[in-house]
Amino acid sequence: MTNRKRVLITGAAGFLGSHLCDRFIKEGYHVIGMDNLITGDMKNIEHLTRLEQFEFHHHDVTQHVHIGGELHYILHFASPASPIDYLKIPIQTLKVSSLGTHNLLGLAKAKGARILVASTSEVYGDPLVHPQTEDYWGNVNPIGPRGVYDEAKRFQEAITMAYHTYHKLETRIVRIFNTYGPRMRLNDGRVLPAFIGQALRGEDLTIFGDGSQTRSFCYVDDLVEGIYRLLMSDYVQPVNIGNPSEITIKQFGEEIIKLTGTKQKLISLPLPQDDPKQRKPDITVAKKILGWEPKVNRAEGLKITYDYFKSLTADELNKIEHKNFEDFKK
Ligand code: UDP
Repeated sequence: MTNRKRVLITGAAGFLGSHLCDRFIKEGYHVIGMDNLITGDMKNIEHLTRLEQFEFHHHDVTQHVHIGGELHYILHFASPASPIDYLKIPIQTLKVSSLGTHNLLGLAKAKGARILVASTSEVYGDPLVHPQTEDYWGNVNPIGPRGVYDEAKRFQEAITMAYHTYHKLETRIVRIFNTYGPRMRLNDGRVLPAFIGQALRGEDLTIFGDGSQTRSFCYVDDLVEGIYRLLMSDYVQPVNIGNPSEITIKQFGEEIIKLTGTKQKLISLPLPQDDPKQRKPDITVAKKILGWEPKVNRAEGLKITYDYFKSLTADELNKIEHKNFEDFKK
C-alpha cells in the first residue's frame, strides 16, 4: 500500500472523465475509474489500465456504489452529454444525474470525501441573460427533448447543495460549457465531431437551422485545469468553466471547412426543438476565485482535435451511430 490520495472518477471512459483520470494520475493520485460503458469507450483509458495506481470498475452508478478502503475525492462525470444521446437514452440520462448523484453523495458522506459534480450550461436552458452568470436561474423546458438532461442536472445541483447544507459535506459544482478535444465520440451528434467527421468522409456539413445560434467552445485541457482548481478551492457555489470566445454555428462550420480543406459545402437541416439560441459563459467568478481563464485559442485547439480525428481508422470513421435528428426520429 502506498499513501497516495484516492480519487473516484465516474464516467472515466468518457471524453472528460478520461482526461481527468490522466490529470489525477499525473498529480500522483490513486485513481479509481468507474463507467458502465453505455457511451464511454475503454479505448480512452487503455493506456492507464496497466498502471498500478489505476483501477477500473465496470459499474452503473445508479446502482449502489461500493468502494473499499479510503476515499478522498469523488468527481461525478458519468452522463450522456449530447442532445441525440438524450433522445436515445432518456431514462438513463435522468437516472445518472439524479439517482447516481444521490448514491455518490452517500458514498462521499460515508467516506468523508470531497465531491465535485459535473453540472452544465444546460441548467440555463435557452438563456434570456447573455452572457450567462452563475446567478441566472435559467429558462428550461422540463418536458422538451433536453429536459431529461437539464432537469436531472438541476436536481443534481439541488441535492448536492442540500448535502452540503444539512450534512456539512464538502461539495463543489462546476457548470461546464461546450468543450472539445481528442476522445470526443466521433458520432455522438455534437457539432464539432459531426462537422469534422463529415469533412473526413467527404460529406456536406449539416448546419441545423440558419446557423445563427451561437456557442463558445473550450479546449479540454483548459477545462480540466479549471476543474482541478475548483476541487482544490474552498468555493461551494456553482462556477462556470468555459471559453467566452463566442461564434455562430455557421462561422464555426466555415472554420472547419478551412481547417480540413474539404471541398464540401454547408447545408441546412431543421433546427431541433429547444436548441439554445446563444450561449457564452461569464467567467468572472472563475477568474476571481480560481485565478483561472482559458489559454488555448480555437485555432490551436481545433488543430489538435482534427489531428486526433484524422488518426482514427476507416472503420471508426464510418461507424455512424446516428447522422442527425431527422434520421434518428425515423
Ligand atoms: N449543430 C449543427 N449541426 C450538427 C450538429 C449540431 O448545426 O450536425 C448545432 C446544434 O443545433 C446546436 C449547436 O450546433 O445549435 C451545438 O450543438 P451540440 O449538439 O454540439 O451541443 P449543444 O450546445 O446544443 O448542447
